[in-house]
Amino acid sequence: MVGKLLDGKNFSAQIREKVSLQVKKLIENEGVTPGLAVILVGEDPASQVYVKSKGKQTVEVGMNSYEYRLDKNTSEKELLTLIKKLNNDKNVHGILCQLPLPDHLNSDLVINAISPHKDVDGFHISNVGLLGTGQKAMVPCTPLGCLLMLREEIGDMSGKNAIIIGRSNIVGKPMAHLLIKENCTVTVAHSRTKKIQKLCSTADILIAAVGRPELIKEDWVKEGATVIDVGINRIEQDLNINPKGYKIVGDVDFEGVKKRAGAITPVPGGIGPMTIACLLSNTLVACCRANNLQEPKGLTA
Ligand code: NAD
Repeated sequence: MVGKLLDGKNFSAQIREKVSLQVKKLIENEGVTPGLAVILVGEDPASQVYVKSKGKQTVEVGMNSYEYRLDKNTSEKELLTLIKKLNNDKNVHGILCQLPLPDHLNSDLVINAISPHKDVDGFHISNVGLLGTGQKAMVPCTPLGCLLMLREEIGDMSGKNAIIIGRSNIVGKPMAHLLIKENCTVTVAHSRTKKIQKLCSTADILIAAVGRPELIKEDWVKEGATVIDVGINRIEQDLNINPKGYKIVGDVDFEGVKKRAGAITPVPGGIGPMTIACLLSNTLVACCRANNLQEPKGLTA
């Protein structure tokens, strides 16, 4: 058996299309254009690529994009002043501060300064608490992307055994809350977990968010399981084989695991594109909530 390929490029394009249609309606019927402000402090190359891509896709779905590229030596006070200004700006419905921040800035303080209603990354402590207690929250984009993909593939997840490998605040922990809400039986494994392979072998749903290239092998996975690979790992390659000198792989040994899984996301082209699509849908949702308008269906947790 070869598992079905869960095509994140295609599915994220469908989500962007839905968002785009809703944005058009908002503009035409309500005279409101959703706006996303993205703050980048410093010149981290990966962050620059992400921010550029976020801005481009924001404009493509018809929203306003506001980009703030700040010097790497920007003080905490300056950054907090900008956030305060954006919190009070009626044209801005979503605010995202690209992480990681330079070492002299306190990320927790900065993230918690963003209005929870505009916190489209879902990292504010209020949103973390709301999600953890099963209430309406802004949900972090990557786990939301995984959830939408699982719903599309599986539908009702009630009673399924799910394992999440990784316990980070941005992927593993929020993912666990989302799957508990879907009535899954959830196990969260991490670097200190014993007999991880055995735990994986009983899981109907396996989510890998580890940051270890191709850690999860074929014989870890239950026959027919749905496997979601969040990992993005750069591995060096001989220039003679690949002119880039590197390739991107996930946390799952794709070639091996696809023989056993019922469905599997590739890397690249799986969860990566879903993340930005969910950022756009979160911005749309934040805009609807700010204006007391009905939220779009099928784009939230
Ligand atoms: P993190 O480093 O914050 O957390 C990694 C987790 O993996 C930790 O909880 C750790 O305990 C666990 N871990 C480490 N080694 C392990 C091992 N050998 N066995 C079991 N568990 C182990 O990482 P993160 O921010 O959650 O990201 C995880 C991966 O997902 C990274 O590759 C990252 O680049 C990727 N990522 C992708 C997206 C996306 O848009 N697709 C978004 C966020 C993160």
